Amino acid sequence: MANCTKIKYPNRWVATHALQAIALKNAHCESKYPVAIHPCELCHAWHLTSQKQHGKKSRKWNVLVR
Ligand SMILES: [Zn+2]
Repeated sequence: MANCTKIKYPNRWVATHALQAIALKNAHCESKYPVAIHPCELCHAWHLTSQKQHGKKSRKWNVLVR
C-alpha cells in the first residue's frame, strides 16, 4: 500500500458523513477545517481537505456542508 498519512475513509459516503460531523463541530470557530472530500490516487481511499476544489473536477466530489 502507498504510504499515505492522511485519515482514510473507505468510500465517499463515509467521507461525506465524517466531513459533515466535523463541520458541525467547528461551525462556531474560525479555524480551518475540512470543507471537501477527494479520492486519493495513492491509497485509493477518500480524504478530507480544507481546500475547496476548483475547476471541472470539483463537481465530482465537492461537498457543500454550509
Ligand atoms: Zn491517500
